[in-house]
This record gives sequence, C-alpha cells and structure tokens, in this order.
Amino acid sequence: MLDTHIQNELIKIAGRARYFDRQEELTCYAYDAFVKEALPDAVILPETTLEVSGILKTASRFKIPVTGRGAGTSVCGAPVPIRKGIVLCFSKMDRIIEINTRDRYITVQPGVINADVQKALAPFGFFYPPDPGSMNTSTIGGNIAQDAGGPRCLKYGVTHDYVLGLEVCLASGKIIRFGSKNIKDVTGYKLASLFCGSEGTLGIITEAILKVRPLPETVKTLMVTFDDLDNTANAVTDIIGSGIIPAAMELMDKLTLNAIEDGANLGLDRKAKGSLLIEIDGVKEACEKEMKQIIEKVKQNGAVGVQEAGSELEREKLWAARRSAYAVFAKLAPDIISEDVTVPVSKVPLMIRKIIAITDKYGLKAGVLAHAGDGNMHPMIPTDRENKEEWEKVENAFSEIFRAAAELGGTLSGEHGIGLAKSDYLPLVMNNDTIEFMKKIKQAVDPDLILNPGKFV
Ligand SMILES: Cc1cc2nc3c(=O)[nH]c(=O)nc-3n(C[C@H](O)[C@H](O)[C@H](O)COP(=O)(O)OP(=O)(O)OC[C@H]3O[C@@H](n4cnc5c(N)ncnc54)[C@H](O)[C@@H]3O)c2cc1C
Repeated sequence: MLDTHIQNELIKIAGRARYFDRQEELTCYAYDAFVKEALPDAVILPETTLEVSGILKTASRFKIPVTGRGAGTSVCGAPVPIRKGIVLCFSKMDRIIEINTRDRYITVQPGVINADVQKALAPFGFFYPPDPGSMNTSTIGGNIAQDAGGPRCLKYGVTHDYVLGLEVCLASGKIIRFGSKNIKDVTGYKLASLFCGSEGTLGIITEAILKVRPLPETVKTLMVTFDDLDNTANAVTDIIGSGIIPAAMELMDKLTLNAIEDGANLGLDRKAKGSLLIEIDGVKEACEKEMKQIIEKVKQNGAVGVQEAGSELEREKLWAARRSAYAVFAKLAPDIISEDVTVPVSKVPLMIRKIIAITDKYGLKAGVLAHAGDGNMHPMIPTDRENKEEWEKVENAFSEIFRAAAELGGTLSGEHGIGLAKSDYLPLVMNNDTIEFMKKIKQAVDPDLILNPGKFV
C-alpha cells in the first residue's frame, strides 16, 4: 500500500472514484494471459493526458513504479506489475477523437478497443489493418506497446507500419508529441517506431494518430485441408515463394483444428493433419487469378479438401472459429502457454517439425497454430503450472524451441513481445552491445526506472 500522503496526492489528481487499492480491486489488475501474477499497490483509471502527466510527476518524485494497462490480454506478462506500484488502466480514455479518411488517418485515445476502430471506419469504406486475434478486447495503447500483429499483417504489415504519430507522457510527467498526420514525415528520429513494442517501458501513450486504408473491393476466403502436416507447411512456402501475398494464411494442425471444431461445430474435417485458412483481397479480377494460382499450388502439395466460403456469413464463421483457437485450447487445462517464435518463411516446414519433435520428446500435448505466411508460429501447450514436474518440462521445451528458432535465423517473438516470458532469452538473438544500447535508451528516458520495471530492459 502507498503512504497516505502519496495516496492523497494521487486521489487529488484523479478523484476518489477512479482510485482503487482494496485487495479485491487490485486482484483484477494483477495478471494478463501469461502465468505470472503480481498485485499493484494502487490502480488508477485516468481520463485525461493531464491526469496521466500529474500521476507520473508524483510517481517520479517518490520513485514509484508505474505500469500501463489496456485490456490485460498480453500473453507474455508485459502488464503484470511485478515491482508493485501504480497500474494506470486506460479503460476511461477510450474516445475516437477524429476520423479523417480524406487524409487517411484516425486519432484515438489509448483505451479504444481495436474492433471499435474497425467499426468506426467501416461506414467510410476504410479499415485499420492490424487485427490481433484479441481485437474484440485489446486496446490500441496495448497494441502499440506490444507492436501487435495479426492474420492480415502478412499483406498489410504490423502496428508500427500504421502509427503516424503519438502523444506520450514521459516518466517525468512531461508530455511529448512526435510524428504527424502526414503519411510522409522524416522530421527527426522515427520516435513512433521506438515506442512500438516498448511495452510501456519508455513512456505512457495518451493519444495515437493511425494510418488507415480503404477496404478492398473483393475478399475471398478458402479453407484447405491436408492429410499431412509437412505438405501443409510446404504449400505455404510454395505460395509465398511464387510471389503471391495473400491477405492472410493461417496454419492449424490436427489438435488445433479439432479443438476449434469442438467449439464451433463447422463441419471441419477432423481427420485432416493440417489445414490452411487463406484469404486474398483486392480488385475482383486479380483475386480470381490469385485464387486459381493458390488452388493449383495447394493441390500440387496434396490438398485433400478445398472449400471457398460461399458467403460473408460463412467467411465470418471461419474467422470466428480461427480466433477462438486460444479460448478453446484454454479449456483443455488450467493454464495455456502460447508462444510466437518466428522464422524466415522458407524455414516454416522445418520449424514445425522441430516443434513437434521437441514437445514429443517431453511428452507434452501441443497444438501448432501459425500466421504461417510470415513465419510466425504459435505453439500452444495446455498445462498446469501447479504440476511442478510438467511445468519444468514445458519450460525446457520452450527453451529448446527458442534455441531452434534462433538457429534457423528466426526470432523470439513475431508479435506477442518479451515481457516476463522471454527476457532471459534475448542473448539468443541479440549481442550484449545491442542489449546495452537498449538499456542506455531506457536510462536516458526513464533514469529512475519507474516505467514498467522488471521487464525486458
Ligand atoms: C486470445 C488472444 C489472442 C491474441 N492474438 C494476438 C494476435 O493475433 N496478435 C498479437 O500481436 N497479439 C495477440 N494477442 C496478445 C495481446 O492481445 C496483444 O499483445 C495486445 O496488443 C495487448 O493489448 P492490451 O490492450 O490487452 O494490452 P495489455 O495486455 O494490457 O498491455 C500490454 C502492454 O502494453 C502496455 N500498455 C498498455 N497500454 C499502454 C499505454 N497507454 N501506454 C504505454 N504502455 C501501455 C502494458 O504496460 C503492457 O506492457 C492475443 C492475446 C489473446 C489473449
């Protein structure tokens, strides 16, 4: 608990109704979708940038840790307040400030939910491409801080490709603004990119200007099944290697497909060893041509079932089912660990074989789900962290999976971030001087190390 005089100062800034410090209230902000938990001393729901700035001024004077929080859907422990202090939750800063499709941007507060941005843009014929599986819950602030991706990032790029400008409160409470409403802007360092993926360790995002795109004229969605997982992965590298970039290409293995079918009852082929959910979009004629080429490629790789979504409803059902993968897996055991190692796309078949060999070696049940077209793989292991013996196997398996990805020229995370889950593994993909360079940036911006301490820097 914070000292009374500090509490009083914070309550003066945000008001009693938006300051929480009872055990049962703090518990709601102690966790994310990873397995580690820690109670903060206080939770504040700010409503304005000035309130955020005031809270940070107080926190920096008393050297109190401050951790930003969107919806708490992180799967790497990033918003878990491991060093206690204040959690700033942005559920009350959830306004869309401006939509300007003529100049192709939208300005939002950090607590706006990703799907609400999509809903607001759709009537204008526009969309915001980053579409994490958590889009119905996760916030733009959290998406920026984690540099979130999603299925259609294969064609359109990830969050950092869409952040034009930010307003940020620094640890000192100073408010800075960088970037602009211009698609082209090379005025100084590209600070917006620095904040993407910074996991709340450099500053608190209080406003964002995001680039938007016109909705495509045509969208076609294909569900393809295979009786061999290797063939499924080879089809991915073949399609991408031939120069076709679908909007999305999601790979699911048998366990994942069956877990989804248990929940969605779509009539998916339960016997299939692998499947691909492929989407292409653009002008009608180009889509039709690409669709033919894709069907040819999957057939050459032994596809046993090829089914195109016949209506928007069918398409939505397929995507809802795909997005349910994490939730249906979570029902299989008390805990679920979903990782996101990423390898060059040509290495996808090999990496999948390695994931299976490693999890088999430890006798673990694992599902493979992947944004396969960009090499981003989510091995998912349902487990029980209270079962010490099994938990040790899970940790060892993931450690080997990280090493295998690094050996293939891959990386630790394609979109989920580092948080508490993977900071020990940074040396696998970065040398010491690079890690030191990141630490220097952190120290320059946050000399008392109050912003989300205990994370990857
Ligand atoms: C079912 C499921 C599916 C998912 N699918 C995907 C996916 O497809 N792609 C993907 O990339 N991720 C995915 N995720 C992970 C997660 O949803 C993303 O990382 C998301 O961006 C987190 O957003 P959030 O609002 O929940 O942020 P939180 O989890 O609350 O916080 C995440 C990080 O952002 C920081 N933060 C939050 N707000 C601010 C702010 N205003 N200023 C500074 N820092 C801030 C926090 O301190 C923390 O470090 C998935 C998670 C789940 C549970």
